[in-house]
Amino acid sequence: MTTTPPVNPETVFTYGAPQLKFGNGASDEIGFDLSRYGGVRRGLDVLSLKVKTGISHAGLRPALAVVDPDLTLTQPAPVTASAGMDIVCHAVESYTARWYTGGERKRPEQRVPYCGANPISDMWAEQAMRLLARSFRRAVRHGDDAAARGEMALAATFAGMGFGNAGVHIPHANAYPIAGQVRDFHPKGYPGHEPMVPHGMSVALTAPEAG
Ligand SMILES: [Zn+2]
Repeated sequence: MTTTPPVNPETVFTYGAPQLKFGNGASDEIGFDLSRYGGVRRGLDVLSLKVKTGISHAGLRPALAVVDPDLTLTQPAPVTASAGMDIVCHAVESYTARWYTGGERKRPEQRVPYCGANPISDMWAEQAMRLLARSFRRAVRHGDDAAARGEMALAATFAGMGFGNAGVHIPHANAYPIAGQVRDFHPKGYPGHEPMVPHGMSVALTAPEAG
């Protein structure tokens, strides 16, 4: 007798046209692309419903991701600050996520993409925090500092490698409803036609209380 194993929807997909992805300095964009879960998830804003959420599908994974810090050299300081806070939260949240052995043991087809903090994701998070400590303030204050921009791009990528496997927690869970409830907030440095709460800002709002 043969049995059919349970199907994990994450593994059932069809690829569309190959995608090429360029980083914009925000960790959600590129670090994610290089991770296991990476590239399968994108932010989704539904303005009419005041909903911001993420969508995921393995078919969203790009064939190639380009991390070029030169593309961020003219990024306004408030955008760099918000993106940087997102990177900080990716690193700290994955570092403080529940340890991967803490839950009930699962069969391979039951496992979710985020497996909890583990020795390998910790390594990426630690490296990201080291780079952030050195270059985050400099990149905000001196946007044309190529070395600081380079380290921020690396930090975004490293943090993405970590949280793309370990997962994030409370601040990111809170960020979507916060961003979705925006009414008339127009942050400096961003295009002014739509009210918005930048992702890094919405994440950082509750991060101090989540420790
Ligand atoms: Zn994020």
